[in-house]
Amino acid sequence: MTLTDTHSHLQDDAYKDDLEEVIERAEAANVSKIITMGDTVENSRAALLISQKYDSVYAAIGLHPETAAEAAEDYLDELKKLAQNKKVVAIGEIGLDYYWEKDAEKRKAQQKIFVEQIRLAKELNLPVCVHDRDAHNDTLEILKRECKDLRGVCHCFSGSYETVAELFKLGFYIGVDGPLTFKNAAKLPEIVVKAPRDRVLIETDSPYLSPAPKRGKRNEPANVLHIAEKLAEIWEVTLEEVAEITTNNAKRLYNI
Ligand SMILES: [Zn+2]
Repeated sequence: MTLTDTHSHLQDDAYKDDLEEVIERAEAANVSKIITMGDTVENSRAALLISQKYDSVYAAIGLHPETAAEAAEDYLDELKKLAQNKKVVAIGEIGLDYYWEKDAEKRKAQQKIFVEQIRLAKELNLPVCVHDRDAHNDTLEILKRECKDLRGVCHCFSGSYETVAELFKLGFYIGVDGPLTFKNAAKLPEIVVKAPRDRVLIETDSPYLSPAPKRGKRNEPANVLHIAEKLAEIWEVTLEEVAEITTNNAKRLYNI
């Protein structure tokens, strides 16, 4: 059995003392591939360094919406340079975050940088990993407008079935993480039941969003197993089948 954690932040300070052991525990839990996401140019560089050190780790590079306001003028050139490395498999995580950003001007800045990075991904023939928090309408509108030659995933999906149906029409994937295992998972299990199985990825978003039974503790890629187990229960299939389906989906989208 092989699991893939398609969304983590291994360069986070949370792992500065024991990254080696975190990767070993992931391998022991059959998590044979991990993608670590960038959120600034510097942080993307750090993600790439980790991916160069560990065979099982791949990097995504990009500016997170929360850092969009501080984007340097040459950030696209910097990202392009980093993307020359073959361990870079996506542009991410990019998108819109209206939960933390209430200012209309700054939201506009997020939209601009989101679109620029989508276009970069298309130019480089890479998928995008999209962060959408409380910005479902604008995210969907931008993805629809830019959908030609675009592929990607809406990570940590939290929207409605109507939104997800639109995303599937665009050929997008959804990423599910810890919240699927929470008692208050709301409509997520229902969405996952209805979703085409070839469109679902599993991810931890480590060090955040620890799944049950690890909720409240630092998260790490080994815990993607708990999300796979929950998905097996919801889909009424074996854990091995979930591993095979979601790993194949990750392979197809990220070319890993
Ligand atoms: Zn993330």
